This record gives sequence, structure tokens and C-alpha cells, in this order.
Amino acid sequence: MNDNERIKKLSSLIDRGGVVFFGGAGVSTESGIPDFRSENGLYSRKYDHPPEEMLSHGFFFSHTREFLEFYGKAILCCLDVSPNPAHRLCAKWEKEGLLDAVVTQNIDGLHTAAGSKNVFELHGSVMRNRCIECGRKYPAEYIRKSEGIPRCACGGIIKPDVVLYGEPLDGETVNGAARAIAAAKTLIVAGTSLSVYPAAGMIDIFGGDALVLINRQSLAAEARADLTIHGSVGEVLSEAEKLRQ
Ligand code: NAD
Repeated sequence: MNDNERIKKLSSLIDRGGVVFFGGAGVSTESGIPDFRSENGLYSRKYDHPPEEMLSHGFFFSHTREFLEFYGKAILCCLDVSPNPAHRLCAKWEKEGLLDAVVTQNIDGLHTAAGSKNVFELHGSVMRNRCIECGRKYPAEYIRKSEGIPRCACGGIIKPDVVLYGEPLDGETVNGAARAIAAAKTLIVAGTSLSVYPAAGMIDIFGGDALVLINRQSLAAEARADLTIHGSVGEVLSEAEKLRQ
């Protein structure tokens, strides 16, 4: 199959409906948010501690100030960017009744910002933040604007509602995502290296007949994919959308 035929196939799978979109950090690189493992990703940059350590539960409590400094620079940049065509097309296809759910490993809130309603954020969202003492909620801007450690009116530290390394995923979110993936006819797996577990393992419960991989690089999971498209998610989905019209 040549590239055009692959995109045509994707567009007919979308037209068929029953699609679930499973995405990773690569879905948001076209909005300007760095991923972890691409050439210019966060792992290629030099920090005093490895990013996995800085984004861990233990580091948050032992080095709160350093955590928030890294988090503010490397992660909260997502407050300044907009959804790209990949986010917008997921929202459009959901509205047209073709896409049942978005399951994302991203914490940037861009699928929701684009208008998607049924979104399972496996790793939480920077948009939600709460006091670890009293549970009061705060917007992301409050964290960004805080000088030093953001504190609640009660004096407690405000923690972003993102799943840090060493923390469990939210059970209700995982169950909802699992139900959606299990029921899908087509699962589009896009912009993820499929290397962060348990999230990456969720594609194993897909029971439909079309597993589609979209990535700029080759992945081992291509061996089990029914359709693999090498390219940028936003561009590939836009091409597929054009062929639908
Ligand atoms: P990753 O960095 O491990 O992998 C990104 C993958 O996307 C790579 O395989 C890369 O080749 C591909 N890619 C990058 N840009 C692409 C594009 N435009 N089109 C197609 N493919 C593209 O990311 P991951 O698999 O999501 O796992 C790492 C963790 O990163 C996740 O848990 C997520 O929470 C976290 N993360 C999230 C954000 C965000 O919210 N935007 C940003 C960085 C990291």
C-alpha cells in the first residue's frame, strides 16, 4: 500500500465510526509542546536531575521548590499554546458521531480545549490543581503566578492533579478508558512511544478489527497494527479528513 492508499484507508475507517483515539505527547508537539523522547524532547535537555525523577511523587515532596521550577518551565508552557488540527479533528469527529472517545496520556488539556467531550486523561491534567490538605481547587494560572511554593488559603501545598511517576492512575478514568477501547471498532494510536506503563498496555484490550498507528518513527507495535502511517499526527489526520469531503 502506498502513502495515499494508507490515508484513504484511514479516512474510510473514520467514516465507518466506532473510533477511539489513543494519544501521547506527540499529539501536542505540533502545538509547540515538547514530548519526552523525540530528538528535541525533554529527555534530550540537560537538567540537574533526570526528568523522570523531577516528575516523581517522591521528588515533589522532597524538592517541592525544584519540582515547581521545572514544572513551571517545562510543563506549564502548555497554557500558552492552542490545540492543533489533531485535537480539533478529534472534536469534530466526535460531534459527527464517528469518534466515541479520546484516551490521552497528555496532561495539557488540549483535547478538551478543542471541544472534545468524552476525554479520558490517564495522567491527569495541569488544569486541575488542589490543596493536599483541604482539597480546595485552584486553576493552573494560580500555580504559575505563585512565587515559590503555591499555598492554599489553609496553608497546605497546592499540587497539580497530574499522575507523577510512582503514583497510581485514577481507577475511574482507567475503567472508562478501558471500556471505550474494548468497545471500539478502530483504535487510532498516535504520537506515543508506547513506553510508559500502565497506560501503554491499555491498547492490549482493544477488541476491534483496525488498529492504526500514526507516528513519525517506527515502533515495535507496528507488527500488530492493521495500518501504520509514518508522519505527523496533525498532518495525517488533516489529509484523511480532506479525503472524506
Ligand atoms: P514520548 O515522548 O515517549 O513519545 C512521543 C512519541 O510521539 C514518539 O514516538 C515520537 O516519535 C512521536 N511524535 C512526536 N511528535 C509527533 C508528531 N507530531 N506526529 C507523530 N508522532 C510524533 O511520549 P508518550 O508516549 O506520550 O509518553 C511519555 C509521557 O509523556 C506521557 O505519560 C505523557 O504524560 C507525558 N508528556 C505529556 C506531554 C503533554 O501533555 N503534552 C508532554 C510531554 C510528556
